Amino acid sequence: MRAEAVSPAIAGLDPEQSAAVLAPRGPVCVLAGAGTGKTRTITHRIAHLVAGGHVAAGQVLAVTFTSRAAGEMRHRLAALGATAAAPDLGQVQARTFHAAALRQLRYFWPQVVGDVPWQLLDRKYPVVSQAARLAGLSNAADNVRDLASEIEWAKASLVAPEDYAAAVARHRRTPPVAAAKVEAVYAGYEQLKNGSAGVLLDFDDLLLHTAAALEGHPAVAEEFRDRYRSFVVDEYQDVTPLQQRVLDAWLGDRDDLTVVGDANQTIYSFTGASPHQLLNFSRRFPEATVVRLERDYRSTPQVVTLANRVIDAARGRIAGTRLKLVGQRPPGPEPVFAEYPDEPAEAAAVAEAVSGLIDSGVAAAEIAVLFRVNAQSEAYEQALTERAIAYQVRGGETFFHRTEVRQAVEALRRTATRDDLPEVAGAGLVSLVTAVLVPLGLTKDEPAGDRARERRAALAALVQLTEDLLGVFPDLDLAGLLRELAARADARHPPTVQGVTLASLHAAKGLEWDAVFLVGLADGTLPIAHVLQDGAVDEAGLEEERRLLYVGVTRARVHLRLSWALARGENVRKTRRRSRFLQGLVPDSSPASRIAAPEPVGRRRPGCRVCGAPLLDAKSTLLGRCVGCVVEVDPDLFAALQQWRQDTARDLKMPAFVVFSDNTLTAIAEQQPLDERALVAIPGIGATKLSRFGADVVRIVTKHQNRR
Ligand code: ATP
Ligand code: MG
Repeated sequence: MRAEAVSPAIAGLDPEQSAAVLAPRGPVCVLAGAGTGKTRTITHRIAHLVAGGHVAAGQVLAVTFTSRAAGEMRHRLAALGATAAAPDLGQVQARTFHAAALRQLRYFWPQVVGDVPWQLLDRKYPVVSQAARLAGLSNAADNVRDLASEIEWAKASLVAPEDYAAAVARHRRTPPVAAAKVEAVYAGYEQLKNGSAGVLLDFDDLLLHTAAALEGHPAVAEEFRDRYRSFVVDEYQDVTPLQQRVLDAWLGDRDDLTVVGDANQTIYSFTGASPHQLLNFSRRFPEATVVRLERDYRSTPQVVTLANRVIDAARGRIAGTRLKLVGQRPPGPEPVFAEYPDEPAEAAAVAEAVSGLIDSGVAAAEIAVLFRVNAQSEAYEQALTERAIAYQVRGGETFFHRTEVRQAVEALRRTATRDDLPEVAGAGLVSLVTAVLVPLGLTKDEPAGDRARERRAALAALVQLTEDLLGVFPDLDLAGLLRELAARADARHPPTVQGVTLASLHAAKGLEWDAVFLVGLADGTLPIAHVLQDGAVDEAGLEEERRLLYVGVTRARVHLRLSWALARGENVRKTRRRSRFLQGLVPDSSPASRIAAPEPVGRRRPGCRVCGAPLLDAKSTLLGRCVGCVVEVDPDLFAALQQWRQDTARDLKMPAFVVFSDNTLTAIAEQQPLDERALVAIPGIGATKLSRFGADVVRIVTKHQNRR
């Protein structure tokens, strides 16, 4: 133990983590749950191998599944290098499978293929589209995207075009169009890439060619294996057969491989990923050091208890490998469960709670709202906007920027300019909007492809929005609706690194926040409808949905709030029930079962200060008047406020609009608040902003008034 105690590589690690770090060169497998320090362990193992002279830093290849994770790994290694005995740790190659393969192929291509030029095909849709047309299929955008995803799955699963139909049957997979058609498109796509001017390689080809170069060319393999001697893979439960083939080619008959993963966080099966390799590691390498970690360093015991209960209910082989997590952090608040009558009420309550957390000192960047499908983000974008809380959508575009939403708004705009339609206002508006959106993909039944489903959900969200607005403005017409949509789109904050994170559960993997809101936890959303359809529940699909909830719960360090709504919109009959995964988890004592929702902001909007008309959109709510109603603003005061905002933003190193948005600044200049009460009456100014900036603002306004 003495020798271990002096090794800087295990400083700050527990005994099991240390065992994985100090294991002799050779196969090591860390099988452990969320937040147990897997990622931390592998960086320390690399440091140990390098510092001990077992391998040179430049001979280590660490693979991750996203470039963000690779960047994080490089960062952590560099930090360790600065403190540990191996200052050259920065030379460790930390890359995604694709980036590593791209680099290697560039180097080996001339030796393996010769003069044939190749190019990376980073936009494959045009080629898939052409292949679809040649196969007699529609090349509508969604169809092409779904076909492209299907080809990606086949290649990641090492399935050639001619084997596709059989593989689909074997995997019980539902193809987006008939299997024979997918096969034709796949074969056509592969052919089209081999043009006369050279070869186009997509991302999966990079992996295939790299593996083939090493498998078929001993000289290449020898040179490579001399260069790289030690391999590390994070999130190994997500490896696809194609990536595994590359890894095997890298290794040859060597076994210097460290893998870490959690089978219970497998959430990418639809791309061909499988925990099979992780779970069979010690069968393949019987001499492997296998370490299990149970201590959870990320979350409070309260969050850990809930995580354990969620995954306890899982069934099947993967579930059999789970370990009970033991929370290591000091206790924190109990997770909160909350039920709402409808989605707008749920979103309003979440925004209110987010605002409360920020007021109590939690940084906005340490808060995340996580949902199952991207279409859910609209309600939360709007609710946060109404409270002037900055946010960013991770791994996706904000609602009004998505292609299908832009197309839909454009179609509604065209409809509004037609003069052959009768005036429609009130209840008829929903039918009109629906009629316009049906041809864009708002199908009655759930379509087959993922992309088509996503599109349908976004269009349905627009119809829902129309219904909700009619609840507030019963006489709304199409022109009014378009004005509201435009105002909402305009009011959205630009992306920022300081804001609250909105993300899908898939995009949240591996990340952590102080506060996490898991929203929309209704049956049909999580688990998602298509695993429940046709009376026959897709058990494997259902288990993957359960793992998504587990991933969500385990992202929270301290605050965790789970919520669901009984209906989609305010005017829809209550037809939903809370997710089956929460069965038995909501304590009887929880007030959550029926929490009074705060009034949505739209409902308690005061009228315009100038003309008294109801305030329709976020911008006018912030201003406290219609956008068109003119209020005199003293240019000197406005300039003084702007100067102050600029100075403050510079001092705090944050964008100016995070201090106050333009609208809030305008509202201050117009309303000239002289005390705190008048200040908080302006939307966008909560307790945090009041305590940080209130005195400054009141001082500027007072000084200005005294001068006049
Ligand atoms: P996931 O399964 O979500 O990827 P993980 O197992 O990779 O999680 P890490 O991200 O490595 O977990 O660690 C989770 C958190 O716990 C991090 O903030 C990390 O710094 C901290 N942590 C890990 N090990 C220890 C330890 N021995 N002592 C203190 N903190 C630790
Ligand atoms: Mg990790």
